Amino acid sequence: MPLLETRNVVVRFGGITAVNDASIEVEQGWIQGLIGPNGAGKTTTFNVITGLQPPTEGQVLLDGEDITTLSVQQRARRGVGRTFQRLEVFGSLTVFENVLVAGEMARTWNDDLPDPRKRADELIELVGVTRFRDQPADSIPTGVARLTELARALTIKPRVLLLDEPSSGLDDAETDDFGDLLRRLANEGTSILMVEHDVDLVMSVCEWIDVLDFGQIIARGTPEEIQNDPIVQQAYLGAEVGEQDDEEVA
Ligand code: ATP
Repeated sequence: MPLLETRNVVVRFGGITAVNDASIEVEQGWIQGLIGPNGAGKTTTFNVITGLQPPTEGQVLLDGEDITTLSVQQRARRGVGRTFQRLEVFGSLTVFENVLVAGEMARTWNDDLPDPRKRADELIELVGVTRFRDQPADSIPTGVARLTELARALTIKPRVLLLDEPSSGLDDAETDDFGDLLRRLANEGTSILMVEHDVDLVMSVCEWIDVLDFGQIIARGTPEEIQNDPIVQQAYLGAEVGEQDDEEVA
């Protein structure tokens, strides 16, 4: 049984069908990619999984339990963590305080979580931003803010972590380190579903990739299968990679 599953999810905004019958399965400990052109429905799918967007039709299951009608907080308590495409760090708080606040909130519902101060420092070190620990989040580079957001998402000890364009703002070396970090988290049992525009990163870390186009899953498979899929080439990879030197396609 997959850890996380969307079943035939449909989201309509008035006349727009943003997600159209999308079924996705994420196994425990997998790093999985959700890719597709701009406007394909990736963020909307994330919003459905995390509870920010009720689906018009379909279900979300976590470990076999239907969580479709649960609130964001109820899902977080069950281990659904997330970072955002648009950064959601608190600018006036330091990196440490950003992570601490999340840890303290998580402790109010889960006594088993470790001491928030200790945990915040461990997570800051884990994601590699210790040297920015005491700087306000509005004065740090975007890539560091993204990693801070990741540390914050990890405070709940998520079973499944949804990352929306996590590598934007990271340089090549930082992206390599980030890939290693994802592998480490997955090896420890965390499932990761990520929307990511850096094709090289997606292809190197993901076990499995789903491709969305106009709200529908048009292909799914291993990175190799996806790269060689003529439908994906036509809808997404081929055209856009050819147009951009840096292979950033979303
Ligand atoms: P991007 O890569 O540009 O972030 P995406 O794949 O994440 O795109 P979504 O943001 O999920 O795509 O958007 C899917 C479609 O739904 C788009 O046509 C978008 O304009 C539309 N949409 C998203 N949110 C809303 C909303 N709240 N109201 C109306 N339309 C919306």
